[in-house]
Amino acid sequence: MIQRITVLGSTGSIGCNTLDVVRRHQGRYQVFALAAGRNAALMAQQITEFTPRFAVMADNDAAIALQALLPAGCATTVLSGSAAMADVAAHADTEMVMAAIVGAAGLLPTLAAARAGKRVLLANKESLVMAGPLFMQAVRDGGAVLLPIDSEHNAIFQALPADYRGDFTLHGISKILLTASGGPFRGRTHAELQQVTPAQAVAHPNWSMGQKISVDSATLMNKGLELIEACFLFNCQPAQVQVVVHPQSVIHSMVQYCDGSVLAQLGQPDMRTPIAYGMAWPQRIEAGVQALDLFSIARLDFEPADEVNFPCLQLARDAFAAGGTMPAVLNAANEVAVAAFLREQIGFTDIPLLIAAVMQQHTVQAVTELAPVLEADQWARECAGRWLLQAGTTLPESGNAC
Ligand code: NAD
Ligand code: MG
Repeated sequence: MIQRITVLGSTGSIGCNTLDVVRRHQGRYQVFALAAGRNAALMAQQITEFTPRFAVMADNDAAIALQALLPAGCATTVLSGSAAMADVAAHADTEMVMAAIVGAAGLLPTLAAARAGKRVLLANKESLVMAGPLFMQAVRDGGAVLLPIDSEHNAIFQALPADYRGDFTLHGISKILLTASGGPFRGRTHAELQQVTPAQAVAHPNWSMGQKISVDSATLMNKGLELIEACFLFNCQPAQVQVVVHPQSVIHSMVQYCDGSVLAQLGQPDMRTPIAYGMAWPQRIEAGVQALDLFSIARLDFEPADEVNFPCLQLARDAFAAGGTMPAVLNAANEVAVAAFLREQIGFTDIPLLIAAVMQQHTVQAVTELAPVLEADQWARECAGRWLLQAGTTLPESGNAC
């Protein structure tokens, strides 16, 4: 039977790759709804090609801009706002939801898809970082099937036993080896990092991705968010997840077992592989990805992460250890810091300073419902905004402006 997919974040890097996989399997998948931020021009093209029932833009202005680009009599209903995104994600006529909105904006629609028992293809790691226990509970309560799309977590999922239910000891698992490319600034000194530009930061050596995740990869915050993501997805502790820098990005992560075995998943750095795996699981479908040629790769290197010059990884461990609302605060402060870096308001090495300053000021609240998560997210953005204001003239060595 044809499966109807909703693509949240359809105009982004993951969204476009998802639609490319759909395009290759028209008889198997049909687009039910598309949702995106403000790129009306690309959304109009996607509507023409995939004729979804609904298209949702982030706000009313973007929806008006989109409507103006569509031909009279276009069968797609245009909506706007986060509630409409949650509605199309939870709609009875869609079986599968690709969660690929960037950042905290993805939380509510992704959560709605989980509660409604969809096959949730999770690229939006930020929603899991913000509200991990609530999100995993929503998956259980809704009877959703959660498939990780982040390449590392997809690799781990593939290397875990098929009947893995969240218990390392039951399956003789020793640890997860979470690989990291090290980003474009691997090996740089602190003095060098102070000089790097946004253009250099978004030029990732192996992957072509959205701006925010590219900067996260450069600071290693992406690996920090992924460490938290792994702990929630696979029910383990940070001490059971070892970060391994592997600059070629050929091994996408590994699982180490107590008998000495290490199972790895290898592939091209092309997100269509994990996307196609998530869409077709437990089957496999062609994804348009070039076959891996080990002779042209020739060698694979491994090294520990430089946690002195890239402190974001430890900040993520600290946030997970503090628990409750702290991971949401880490995420929100990071989003503000990355945006400020991209508009050249702060330097690259100020990103961890800002996040640490906001985390220091936060009083952790327990997370048994969504309200404290959303409040902590809002609080952290305001606190980070005050830090930026104070940093406006001269940046403090360690921010304490909250
Ligand atoms: P991107 O910036 O290329 O795309 C983001 C998408 O989100 C766009 O469609 C944009 O319009 C939409 N969006 C932004 N704000 C929105 C809002 N308020 N409401 C609705 N839609 C909004 O980002 P990306 O690289 O595709 O990443 C998307 C997510 O996938 C991120 O959470 C990222 O961490 C994760 N991810 C990406 C990759 C990758 O290779 N690109 C790999 C692993 C995980
Ligand atoms: Mg990843």
